Amino acid sequence: MLQIDKLSLNIPPTTKARVVVIGGGFGGVNLVKKLSGKQFQVVLFDRQNYHGFWPLLYQVATAALEPDSIAEPLRKMFDEDFEDFHFRLVRVTGVDPITRTVTTLIGELTYDYLVIATGTKSNYFGNEQIKNFSFPLKQIPHALDLRSQLLQAFEQANMTKDEMVKQSLLNIVIAGAGPTGVELAGSLAEMRKHVLPGDYPGMDFSKMNIYLVEGLDRVLPPMSPQSSAKTHRYLEKMGIIIKLNTLVESYDGQVVTFKGGEQIHTQTLIWAAGVTGALIDGLPAESVERGKILVNEFNQVKGCSNIFAIGDIALMKLEQYPKGHPAVAQPAIQQGQHLAKNLQRVLRNEPMQPFKYFDKGSLAIIGRNRAVADLPGKIHLSGFLAWVTWLFVHIYYLIGFRNKLVVLTNWVYRFFTYERGNRLIIRPFVRKDDKVGQEFVSRYRQD
Ligand SMILES: Cc1cc2nc3c(=O)[nH]c(=O)nc-3n(C[C@H](O)[C@H](O)[C@H](O)COP(=O)(O)OP(=O)(O)OC[C@H]3O[C@@H](n4cnc5c(N)ncnc54)[C@H](O)[C@@H]3O)c2cc1C
Repeated sequence: MLQIDKLSLNIPPTTKARVVVIGGGFGGVNLVKKLSGKQFQVVLFDRQNYHGFWPLLYQVATAALEPDSIAEPLRKMFDEDFEDFHFRLVRVTGVDPITRTVTTLIGELTYDYLVIATGTKSNYFGNEQIKNFSFPLKQIPHALDLRSQLLQAFEQANMTKDEMVKQSLLNIVIAGAGPTGVELAGSLAEMRKHVLPGDYPGMDFSKMNIYLVEGLDRVLPPMSPQSSAKTHRYLEKMGIIIKLNTLVESYDGQVVTFKGGEQIHTQTLIWAAGVTGALIDGLPAESVERGKILVNEFNQVKGCSNIFAIGDIALMKLEQYPKGHPAVAQPAIQQGQHLAKNLQRVLRNEPMQPFKYFDKGSLAIIGRNRAVADLPGKIHLSGFLAWVTWLFVHIYYLIGFRNKLVVLTNWVYRFFTYERGNRLIIRPFVRKDDKVGQEFVSRYRQD
């Protein structure tokens, strides 16, 4: 029988400089791609064995795409062509800057250079109840849980004559009107219009309410006021109920209560209201600020000259970005590529170059022919043109030829048929303490 203490990291000793990278997300993979195995031994740790393309995660949650098409195995990305590269599927739990050691759940490893690229995790602002009962959307398992929950709720709604219960199953509340919340809301509205009435002919989907709740005074707060206003109009046209300046105070799995006292009965609260850095224990206290790791313009962690942080976890305060770069894919990609060059410069005893962010703009999709884009030069696009731009950019950046082909084929097919072929409850979702849910699932599942 396998015993867990029989496992070890099993990294070969080396005379080269060892770079340990924690996280194979946008930052990590773009760094590793540019690091040569001739100069460095490169070790990549991730708690999942794939690189996820999170901008399309909401499409997995809403049955538009299968999970495999938005992810690429890290071992496939870095195959035998990558000399002296070692991937290990482990969670990193700590770092010791004095002994230059990384601790994982399987063992320890020393490093010459450490790069932390762990991204973010959902922020529940200390509210354990919301954490226990709401649905986050940060990883593929989250998207599959949410998809199961939505499909199970529709099945249950179709089988009850109790109007209160039915309404609670058909109310969906999304907390947070950033890109994830907006894109989810739009996708659910399209499902409500084009897909669900065909699946459940007897059910009145005009009763399915999609609430989009935002604490600030506009939707898509990171984008321009023009794009926010346009998005607001699109969402309203699609029948989304938007609540601005509204904060979720509590949720017990049945009722969402907002600050101010208003309540909505729902089985589904989706939490897209905030993120915080996925920190690693052991860094000096002065290098952490607002849940992120403080870095200088070389991505060097404050107080640790051979530890670097890139992407969403890094907080690089510059005059132009006093609160750090936006938490989107481009800064992570560009910092990964830039750091690879800087590490090579260090090896050649050359000075490192400061990171300069090239803002390529931001995009959000609301639905068919409806998207918004803020492009460099203060250009704002909306409607069909922004929609086509969104499609092109997402296919372009999606990793792997197979993924590009599968996603494009899916989109073309869906454009003409309105069909979403992934309405499968592959692994039913039940909260641990949800007795009714457990009963429901046990009654339709075969042993
Ligand atoms: C649902 C969603 C939609 C988004 N939409 C967009 C969009 O439309 N456009 C856009 O530009 N950006 C979007 N983003 C943001 C974008 O995905 C992030 O900015 C980007 O992923 C940051 O890259 P990163 O490398 O810093 O972190 P990530 O890509 O999140 O990668 C972090 C990696 O670290 C690993 N990890 C974390 N902790 C540990 C640990 N302790 N041990 C081992 N491994 C660990 C994780 O498994 C993960 O693979 C979206 C994000 C989400 C979640």
